Amino acid sequence: MRHIAIIGSGPAGYYTAEAAQKHWGDDVRVDIFDMLPVPYGLIRTGVAPDHQSIKGVSRRYESTALSDNVRFAGNVMIGRDVSVEELQSFYDAVVLATGAPHDRKLGLAGEDLPGVYGSAAFVGWYNGHPQFAGLDPDLSGHTAIVIGMGNVALDVARILAKTPDEFAGSDIVAHALDALRGSAIRRIVIVGRRGPHQIMMTPKELGELMHLHRAAPRVDPADLPEEGEDALLEPGSRKSVNHLRSFAAIPESHYADTPVEIEFDFFANPRAIIGTSRVEGLEVERTALEAGRAVGTGETYVIPASLIVECIGYQTSPIPGVPFDERAGRFPNDEGRILPGLYCVGWARRGPSGTIGTNRPDGFGVVEKIAEDIGAGSSKRGRAGFDQLAEARKLEVVTFRDWKKIEAQEEARARDGAPREKFVDVNAMIRARGD
Ligand code: NAP
Repeated sequence: MRHIAIIGSGPAGYYTAEAAQKHWGDDVRVDIFDMLPVPYGLIRTGVAPDHQSIKGVSRRYESTALSDNVRFAGNVMIGRDVSVEELQSFYDAVVLATGAPHDRKLGLAGEDLPGVYGSAAFVGWYNGHPQFAGLDPDLSGHTAIVIGMGNVALDVARILAKTPDEFAGSDIVAHALDALRGSAIRRIVIVGRRGPHQIMMTPKELGELMHLHRAAPRVDPADLPEEGEDALLEPGSRKSVNHLRSFAAIPESHYADTPVEIEFDFFANPRAIIGTSRVEGLEVERTALEAGRAVGTGETYVIPASLIVECIGYQTSPIPGVPFDERAGRFPNDEGRILPGLYCVGWARRGPSGTIGTNRPDGFGVVEKIAEDIGAGSSKRGRAGFDQLAEARKLEVVTFRDWKKIEAQEEARARDGAPREKFVDVNAMIRARGD
């Protein structure tokens, strides 16, 4: 028998469990731990609430979760309730699938002013992550700035631009929907330090900006490179740039009937966040591209704004007793191996990039390494060892069956047409599982 502990129940965690099942069949026991009482990590609290078809992938994880040799242990925080070292004493392999839940910082003056948020916090707020549910961002100003030109920046801009009706069928949490209903934001500026050819936004997501009820994207045609240069791009990037070209071709008259604008400000490198008691604007420096790099031109200007969301990427949280690469913001590893018996997978292994599906080959890859390392397994106690420790420490472990009860309650209290109304508080989640 092999005993495997996976820390984190997001895509990387469940794909690793699926891979372990496929590899060893009945000869493996997998325990998936999560610090929250509810599973699915990024699927629940990262993927945009109006992208329900992407969230549907959790059905696949559920079929893994419901198999006899896989177990969910929620509401257990590694490093607080149980150490990695303790887990290693029970399991043949401990796999860190903890994602990259922390915001990278720009390191600018004024970054700590009220009204400035990282994307993990802001996305966590509208997705009901217990850690960020109380964020209460002030949406009473006219202009919001979103820094970064990746898909997370697009998610944030789109959520800020939508009307309440456009959230029908989504699982945006009630507190965010209420706040957005009263939002006065009419201008959303997406700031990128490089140009249209360097955006990280994918075509499908970018195309959605053309179909918003009250908002339209705005691109300055002067920012676009010669059309012939698009031929040098990968097909996906070329499609994205085609969208930017169609945004640039929107006639000025269209904006007269469009109360909300999503403006792309290219070649603008953030320099400082302006404000005294709260954010009042962003100072940027005009850049020019040199061999693909943004180089400052010395010309600066300020974009006034009352809300700034930095969407410039994420980093993994360090865990006591586990080596951490501060510069890369993840665990140092060799194809998933950190130390004997300790592995990482997904964003915790390779950093915050790629789609949800990218984590599947990652999970299968790390299971191959584990198989090479542990052979037929050992005489470790596996889940029996953890259960004894959990009982001794009086941990309130939430099982998958408990989760199904929480889920049923979230579905029962959903507003009309919505799939669920999430609990946004850990105690409320635990209460919802009943006795
Ligand atoms: P990302 O795709 O890496 O984009 C980060 C952006 O931040 C880039 O435009 C980058 O510009 C900019 N940036 C980084 N450091 C900066 C700095 N110091 N100053 C100014 N700008 C800076 O990251 P993400 O948007 O967080 O997305 C993470 C991953 O999740 C991606 O793989 C993304 O595709 C995926 N995702 C997918 C979906 C979806 O499919 N619907 C939704 C959300 C996220 P430079 O290029 O100049 O560095």
